[in-house]
Amino acid sequence: MHHERVRAVDPAVADALDAEVSRQHDTLAMIASENHASQAVLEAQGSALTNKYAEGYPGERYYAGCEHADEVERLAIDRAKELWGAEHVNVQPHSGTQANMGVYLTTLDPGDRILSLDLSHGGHLSHGHPANFAGKLYEVAHYEVDPETGYIDYEELRETAEEFDPDIVVSGYSAYPRAVDFERVQEAADAANAYHLADIAHITGLVAAGVHPSPVGIADFVTGSTHKTIRAGRGGIIMTSEEHADAIDAAIFPGGQGGPLMHNVAGKAVGFAEALEPEFEEYASRIVENARALGDAFEASGLTLVSGGTDTHLVLCDLRESHPETTGGDAEGALEDVGIVLNKNTVPGETRSPFNPSGIRAGTAALTTRGFDEAACREVGDLIARIVDDPEDADVRGEVSDAVDRLCEEHPIYE
Ligand SMILES: *Cc1c(COP(=O)(O)O)cnc(C)c1O
Repeated sequence: MHHERVRAVDPAVADALDAEVSRQHDTLAMIASENHASQAVLEAQGSALTNKYAEGYPGERYYAGCEHADEVERLAIDRAKELWGAEHVNVQPHSGTQANMGVYLTTLDPGDRILSLDLSHGGHLSHGHPANFAGKLYEVAHYEVDPETGYIDYEELRETAEEFDPDIVVSGYSAYPRAVDFERVQEAADAANAYHLADIAHITGLVAAGVHPSPVGIADFVTGSTHKTIRAGRGGIIMTSEEHADAIDAAIFPGGQGGPLMHNVAGKAVGFAEALEPEFEEYASRIVENARALGDAFEASGLTLVSGGTDTHLVLCDLRESHPETTGGDAEGALEDVGIVLNKNTVPGETRSPFNPSGIRAGTAALTTRGFDEAACREVGDLIARIVDDPEDADVRGEVSDAVDRLCEEHPIYE
């Protein structure tokens, strides 16, 4: 993939874009929120729809000339309805955070209460962190995972809901390796007479393919990012029932956004069409099998997995027991040096800080897109463990680097 037209006007940006394509090819993208969108999705996202103002919704726009924008947005909506079985879908949120904002604007007044999972236990900034608008506008309390098992403590969640009396309970997480029991979260929301927002940003693709239970039809609102496991390019999405359809649409536009990013809506439409193909179910199953293989390799090397394994695309490693002197940041840096890109992460019961936490998080969605199988993921797990054991050893670094190069060559991404 080259960027000749960019190069003709802007060699500096063209250099950076070319180098980014090479970086993605030459490294293992294991940040659990990332994936490699297809060239079809990239083409749609780079289309002339970026020029079009389409404030409003299909058939009800504020400007003329929206017939093709309407067609694209209707396709994205219809495909999303088919993928997730939702009654009403809004495909305009610029990102997952804006999707959550749309739900809060629909359900809450400033000062109302959000109950969500603690960030260090796997929650997300947009679930009410003090640095995020949600934490500034609303009153927030948190539930936690069980420190022994690493699983959501649904009993504690229900008790906290009864005590705190939230207006909305948020489920769905950024660093939780286990399947979420949305029915039990719903019970906690019911006990407090609160709404339930299920934020499936990470697991959109797994839910669409039926390899993770779906909150659609259980929670009042389901939000997601479109660039993670569903692989449909940057953006966000909201799903809800007919009852809340108009309120959600008004909360996104004009409530929280201006004109939609129609080129991104086109990317979503194309990515959703790809996800409706039968191969996508196979892809999603393989993501989870690959994450299990990765986790098995970690455990065989003596690393500790939060919750002892995974049901999803990600594994979370707590380094404190096996490598008390090694922080997540140390591991992230040493791994990046050898071409393995993952992220440091807080772990339940974190004893360090969010800036230098005790864990690493690794996902298999992007590797699976490149065609990695379980054997390849086990090998990657071994390579990661070798670096975590010996981050400074030049021989180990050289061998791991060579193995990463070979794996990248064997699994090309773009033509
Ligand atoms: C990734 C993520 C989001 C959305 O993030 P954006 O970067 O705004 O798309 C929202 N919630 C959770 C739980 C996430 O993991």
